[in-house]
Amino acid sequence: MKRLVAVTLALALAGAAQASAESMVISPNGSRPSAKGPDQYFTGSVVVDPLYPANDQTSSSGGLVTFEPGARSAWHTHPAGQILIVTTGIGWVQEEGGAKREIRPGDVIWTPPGVKHWHGATAGNGMSHIAVTNMAGGKNVEWMEKVTDDQYLR
Ligand code: MN
Repeated sequence: MKRLVAVTLALALAGAAQASAESMVISPNGSRPSAKGPDQYFTGSVVVDPLYPANDQTSSSGGLVTFEPGARSAWHTHPAGQILIVTTGIGWVQEEGGAKREIRPGDVIWTPPGVKHWHGATAGNGMSHIAVTNMAGGKNVEWMEKVTDDQYLR
């Protein structure tokens, strides 16, 4: 915890420094604790590993999200869009009104602002993706209803 505070402070100080006086900042692996994806927004077991927060110099936040088989997000939109980079496993994405689509490691998925969608693992395989989520007015997501089993398996 002490370390996290120190890293956060360092990032804040780096952000406040003059451009000419800035140095590279390494946020070490192990300094950003994993969190469980909240049941309110996810179905099944989901682990979120924060990578970087949005600040004055980055207009996005980054996180590594790991879904067990069958796990998925609720329906949601992003006010300024989101990029997903699949790192392991096999997953599904779907936008409202469209067919469910398979995603695999190395795939890069752009979800434009305001497009209602969900993402998660397939029923038979886990999946991890890095999510780069753009900020607009201090927000990066609008959560909606859960994806039902019927919708998920359709
Ligand atoms: Mn999304």
